[in-house]
Amino acid sequence: RVRSEGQGGYLFFSPAMRRAADEILEKELAIRHALERGEFCLHYQPQFNLRSGIVDSVEALIRWNHPTRGLVFPGDFIPFAETYGLIDDIGDWVMMEAIRTAARWNAEGRPLRVSINVSPKQLYRIELIPMIRACLARFSLPPELLEIEITEAAIMRHEEFSLQRIEGLRRDGVAVALDDFGTGYSNIAQLMSLPMDRLKLDRSLLDAIVTDRRQQVVAVALIGLGRELGYEVVAEGVEDERQFALLKTAGCDYIQGYYLAKPLPEADLFARIAAIRADMQTNMREVPDRGQ
Ligand code: C2E
Ligand code: MG
Ligand code: MG
Ligand code: MG
Repeated sequence: RVRSEGQGGYLFFSPAMRRAADEILEKELAIRHALERGEFCLHYQPQFNLRSGIVDSVEALIRWNHPTRGLVFPGDFIPFAETYGLIDDIGDWVMMEAIRTAARWNAEGRPLRVSINVSPKQLYRIELIPMIRACLARFSLPPELLEIEITEAAIMRHEEFSLQRIEGLRRDGVAVALDDFGTGYSNIAQLMSLPMDRLKLDRSLLDAIVTDRRQQVVAVALIGLGRELGYEVVAEGVEDERQFALLKTAGCDYIQGYYLAKPLPEADLFARIAAIRADMQTNMREVPDRGQ
């Protein structure tokens, strides 16, 4: 028994718990320092629009330039930040940085819509929408150049809040995407009744579409269903040409994945986009228009 309640409210810690608590404190401090010292950065992954044949948007993905560990990926600190109350500060930084950057691209005459990931706690925050509105105004970014990615899990946990935020964002002209679609155990009919702009089919639904006929059938059907309901469908985690060709034939609207580009620092982004454009000029002949 390491914890005792009902005896005047004392908590007894074992040495192991003490160590665990120290580690948490240490990591929390490291993240706070990282924010203060500007160790976080955003990488941007191109999203290729199969209808227009160009990259017209990017997903912003956070990285941590750790002084000793090198580049640290979000899986290593975002869930932690969500649990220990740091996600709001990180989220505010991401929002600001992404909007500022997209506004600069737009002012330079190379507009790209930027997609930002928002975790559940950020989504439920009452300040989310006023924050975004203020940020858009401050940097003069047209709202249609911003998209917010919300996960299925977040929506299912608090459908009421989520719906309010989705409607609020879209009223402001900000696009909303359902991220990681197909990873939960959600009610598809319920999910697909939500007023969103895009559905992002999770990588796990697409990794074997070339080799596994059943997976292929499901993916093709979901693409059809999504489009029929008026969403644009984004395929995530596309890694090779055969997946790309199949998804294009299935009528997917967007492709995102290592096949086209990994998430890149801004310094490498526009060169990569130009290279994709050159590659695709030959590759992109008969893509049917939306609605055909
Ligand atoms: P996500 O939003 O589903 O992002 C897609 C993840 O898949 C990214 O991992 C991306 O690098 C990776 N990916 C893209 N294409 C491919 C591919 O072809 N193959 C493979 N194997 N992977 C691919 P990343 O950057 O490590 O991000 C992981 C997750 O962390 C994201 O999943 C998102 O949920 C979260 N995240 C990232 N940045 C932020 C942020 O700024 N705020 C919040 N709240 N969450 C973030
Ligand atoms: Mg995402
Ligand atoms: Mg995703
Ligand atoms: Mg994911």
